[in-house]
Amino acid sequence: MTYVSVAEAQDCILAQVRRQPVEQVALHDSLHRVLASDVAANRNHPPYDVSAMDGFAVRADDIAIASPEAPITLDIVDDIRAGTMPQLRVIQGKAARIMTGAPVPAGADTVVRVEDTKTHGDQVLILLPPKQGANIRPLGEHLKRGAVTLTAGTEITPGVLAILAMLKQKQVPVFTRPSVAILSTGDELEGIDEPVDENKIPDANTHALYAQCKSLGITPTLLGIAHDNPIELRAKLAEGLQYDLLLASGGVSVGHHDFIRPMLDALGITMHFWRVAMRPGHPLAFGTAETGTLVFGLPGNPVASMVCFEQFVTPACRAMMGYPRLFRRTIQARLGHAMTDRAGRAHFVRVTLSQDAQGYEATSTGAQGSGILLSMAMADGLMLIPAESEGLQAGDTVTVQLLHGTEFQQAAGLQAE
Ligand code: AMP
Ligand code: MG
Repeated sequence: MTYVSVAEAQDCILAQVRRQPVEQVALHDSLHRVLASDVAANRNHPPYDVSAMDGFAVRADDIAIASPEAPITLDIVDDIRAGTMPQLRVIQGKAARIMTGAPVPAGADTVVRVEDTKTHGDQVLILLPPKQGANIRPLGEHLKRGAVTLTAGTEITPGVLAILAMLKQKQVPVFTRPSVAILSTGDELEGIDEPVDENKIPDANTHALYAQCKSLGITPTLLGIAHDNPIELRAKLAEGLQYDLLLASGGVSVGHHDFIRPMLDALGITMHFWRVAMRPGHPLAFGTAETGTLVFGLPGNPVASMVCFEQFVTPACRAMMGYPRLFRRTIQARLGHAMTDRAGRAHFVRVTLSQDAQGYEATSTGAQGSGILLSMAMADGLMLIPAESEGLQAGDTVTVQLLHGTEFQQAAGLQAE
């Protein structure tokens, strides 16, 4: 096995993803989930031709030659409000006052806006003739009974949720969220509930990964910390294999006490790759269990683990949950300063973004060591420097992947280049 590119790794992972099963959830709980089946309209909307304006329902033939100088006078025979059904037919020389959303009476084929009329007692003067059919929303214009209105794979935004409500979908079929187990590994790690020991390293990855899962709508299970000891590690990994995804961090390189890969082998996991040409990030192991569990051996360094989560775990989870857009959104920015770089690996640089009339400017958050979590904590995004680049000048246009938005896109940023 050798290094794979970021794009190859993403393709490999997505090829292993299986769509989650479907569950029914209450309408209000479906927000930002993905609709799992087509929904057809159970009614017409509007249910009849309705007026789009406050005005007068008329026969277009009666008013064709109206003008401000020579208005046409019609008798007002009815006053139709939204929610009431008209009783009278509009015949030649007559008009009905009508409100927005009210049904257009029989006989009328056009609505004249109130602004284009004057009233005198029970007569209306039409000053401007609109086109025949104007200001009428025809029956079924919005929703047609029996027609598929929302298709499977649609993300339920507030607007989609409102349409589901109009269609009386109190229960909504959505793809379930995957179950995720998180495991930190390393003899040096100290759990959050343990007392401070100056000689230990506080476990950050458990909590970073927890938060990253939560931002995808997933509540993961925390398996805690495993020591660098094959027996303990094997038992914890085996526990993690009962989930749809297992995220284990640390112990994945080729050090003397890096047991993740041999233990995954021993547990029968098929390894697809374990090195990605990226910085920070490699080593990154990816494997699959016969049960379908996706296993990620993430780097121990907290920044590397978080960056790998965004590039690989985020798209995998979103694909499982049925989202059509898998990748975090990228924007174009100009670089605020020069940056040296080495060719060979894609580089993800933590940056802040500011905005002015010219667009976005990206500025490095400072020291980019993969253990320096503060520079990740302060970042708005990851600037993507393609593998072949040997450095950038101030003012260069760069692609920045946004880290905190709720918008996603179809292609990964590096592939879109
Ligand atoms: P490893 O991949 O196990 O060699 O770890 C690489 C570096 O990341 C080491 O400095 C570890 O101490 C650090 N590290 C590993 N796991 C964690 C964790 N859960 N939280 C914080 N740092 C970690
Ligand atoms: Mg370690």
